[in-house]
Amino acid sequence: MELLEKEIAKKGKVLPGNVLKVGDFLNHQMDASLLCAMADEVCKHFFCYGINKVLTVEASGIALAVLIAERLDCKMAFAKKSKALNADGDFYSAECVSFTRPDNNLIMLPKPYLLSTDKVLIVDDFLAVGNATNALRDMVKQAGATLCGITVAVEKGFQGGGDKIRADGIDLLSLAIVDEMNPDTGKIVFRKQ
Ligand code: 5GP
Repeated sequence: MELLEKEIAKKGKVLPGNVLKVGDFLNHQMDASLLCAMADEVCKHFFCYGINKVLTVEASGIALAVLIAERLDCKMAFAKKSKALNADGDFYSAECVSFTRPDNNLIMLPKPYLLSTDKVLIVDDFLAVGNATNALRDMVKQAGATLCGITVAVEKGFQGGGDKIRADGIDLLSLAIVDEMNPDTGKIVFRKQ
């Protein structure tokens, strides 16, 4: 998506350790117009699937996920990274080694928020090696729900998570794919799509 690539090229910062910082406009301070345009693009692609549940993991994917859910006229649910003190009832849980916070590794979702009848779109801000999306896929499987597809704002193509999802035959829409990024020069190369 050209608009997103332009913003990443202009405002993204390449940090050591394969981290791309987009906190200025995507996942800390947020550009609402850009996020709405991204949600429109996602809905154009996934409209025909009859999706009735958008699923993400806290926290950075929530804004995009809720905008997509509004357009698809369905509910959005997010897995939490720790069990809240006020949590009750049954939960799905899945192992999820976080790329940016390696100490956190279990995500939880109350069972009533994901049903066997659900047709699910998984959403996240970034796709790197694929741990977060794999954990969400695991939850969809545990629920016996149907996975319609996965969408992410930014796929870092060189980290392999996206290729594994495509190899599994899943419809993956990455709004921008970064194939190379250099922390010394700040140069970012996008995959032509
Ligand atoms: P994965 O689980 O695919 O390895 O990484 C995806 C998760 O890690 C996303 O939920 C995202 O929050 C975080 N993440 C991975 N790479 C980056 C990155 O380069 N920048 C930022 N801001 N978050 C990232």
